[in-house]
Amino acid sequence: MTDNAKRFLELCVTGVRSLQPYQAGKPISELERELGISNIIKLASNENPLGPSPAAIEAVRKHAAEFSLYPDGNGFALKRLLADFHETELRHITLGSGSDHILELIARAFLCEGRSVVMSQYGFSIYAIVSQAAGAEIRMVAAKPATDPAAPYGHDLGAMLAAIDDSTRVVFIANPNNPTGTYVTRDELLDFLQRIPKNVLVVLDEAYTEYVAADDYQEGASLIGTFDNLLVVRTFSKAYGLAGLRVGYALANPVVTDLLNRVRLAFNPNALAQVAAIAALGDHEHVRKTVALNREGMQQMCAAYTDMGLEYIPSVCNFITVKVGDAGRVFDELLREGIITRPLAPYGLTEHLRISIGLPEENRRLISTLRRILGA
Ligand SMILES: *Cc1c(COP(=O)(O)O)cnc(C)c1O
Repeated sequence: MTDNAKRFLELCVTGVRSLQPYQAGKPISELERELGISNIIKLASNENPLGPSPAAIEAVRKHAAEFSLYPDGNGFALKRLLADFHETELRHITLGSGSDHILELIARAFLCEGRSVVMSQYGFSIYAIVSQAAGAEIRMVAAKPATDPAAPYGHDLGAMLAAIDDSTRVVFIANPNNPTGTYVTRDELLDFLQRIPKNVLVVLDEAYTEYVAADDYQEGASLIGTFDNLLVVRTFSKAYGLAGLRVGYALANPVVTDLLNRVRLAFNPNALAQVAAIAALGDHEHVRKTVALNREGMQQMCAAYTDMGLEYIPSVCNFITVKVGDAGRVFDELLREGIITRPLAPYGLTEHLRISIGLPEENRRLISTLRRILGA
């Protein structure tokens, strides 16, 4: 390392010094540049294969001339609709530019050096990034074993509870979880909320909640009145198909909401994102189609993996984490065939790929390519 690099490394805050940036799914345009090929499919970031709601596209067109004006910094219109949607009030809602922005606000408002945060080994990697940047001590709790009948590699809430002590301020739970596709049940969640100390914030990240059909799954929104240390995070990036526009939000008690709002820079999400989210939230039909398509694709993919003799983690989301052997090699070979998937080495899962459910023809192309690569 040069003297200059050392000097700036020492200049930056402790948490950032050893931070590794989030590894996003490879963009289609990047692979096009690298390989000089077209007809690429991306099954790497759990985006909506149907695209955005047509109503959202129309809304963005209609409001395009307003972009010289600052957005409504309070996001009134969107919050009003969200309040109705969740049968709550505006003072429970914080808007962000993507739910990752909300996660960052949580870390900024509640974490610092000397405080600890609890998360699961295979929990969404952004939790560790925002926590470490804030200087907090990360308690990474072992996941349930691969052999667990209900939730292999899933969150072990009992062990997470045991990891909490006086220094703990925040617990991150993705329900359902990415990258495992597993969920915690209503009973597990309620038991956890009843037992956790009241001065620890429970962040329940529900990015994939629209896809879950399990009877014993419980959404968090209706529990906020009962548990005032519960904070639910939702996004428009997945089933609502607006990942590129960056809109997410939190539901929490009004005091926590006010604290998050203090560290939120005023004009998030941007004006485009706000009008698109309003339209998308009203387009129930698009979400219904998205979920129905996903259910079919899930059956198609599970059947294919079983037929190929591949183990996979049963998923309630719009992706499946599947064991392919040397995942780095299979990832590279799929890339060369124009299919982008997600390697999970950053999570220590070197034999698994996370692959989103796509359109039926995309799924078919993935299956036939994977068969060729694996000789299965
Ligand atoms: C995709 C995802 C999000 C959503 O991120 P955005 O910043 O809203 O796009 C949040 N949490 C999990 C677990 C996810 O997989």
